[in-house]
Amino acid sequence: MQNKALIKEIFSSLQGEGPYIGYNQLFIRFAKCNLKCEYCDTDFLSDLKEYSCEELTAEINKYNNFHSVSLTGGEPLLFTDFLLEFLPQIKHKIYLETNATLFENLKKIIEYVDIISADIKLHSSSQNGDLFRVHDKFFEIAKNCGKEIFAKVVFDDNISDDEIDKICSLAEKYNLPIVLQPKMESRHATISSNEINDILNKFLNRYYNVRVIAQMHKYLNIR
Ligand code: SF4
Repeated sequence: MQNKALIKEIFSSLQGEGPYIGYNQLFIRFAKCNLKCEYCDTDFLSDLKEYSCEELTAEINKYNNFHSVSLTGGEPLLFTDFLLEFLPQIKHKIYLETNATLFENLKKIIEYVDIISADIKLHSSSQNGDLFRVHDKFFEIAKNCGKEIFAKVVFDDNISDDEIDKICSLAEKYNLPIVLQPKMESRHATISSNEINDILNKFLNRYYNVRVIAQMHKYLNIR
């Protein structure tokens, strides 16, 4: 059977999150996810299309002037069989946006990935339970392969001291930059600037490499 991937959309836009904010990227948004975050804004039910490897390669060859190809979702690592066939054909930098839980799948394709934006999912904001053990395995694999990786943490005022402690321990263990991303509703953070500052200071009391970066694309009203 031909290897195919279910894709929600392909588009060129500015990266709106994390340290690569503002770079023009070609986004491939994969459908399906293994988690169910309370704040998820991706519609996985409509406008989906299956692509073969050849079809997707032809599609991305229509674009130019981008910094990297962002594999986003959904969860791109649900499609590792497809990616194993697709990624060796792509000459551009590969930027993987992942929920950092499918560590066995990461192992299969990591050699083709250049930059990893890895979420640390908090129960307090995403309602997925405690995922720190799987995140630990994920970061271990990524660091052992020498890949550029940073941890992105969507948070709100429910973040607990225990969660802050566990995030900082993971970051120390793997020398990870941490990007704190306030949970947004439309163009507004769900948390006040004073609360953001207090939470940032709790992190900085434990670990040095922490920044707050909001979702720029929501302010600019772009995809
Ligand atoms: S990991 Fe991302 S795509 Fe999956 S449910 Fe959470 S926010 Fe949505």
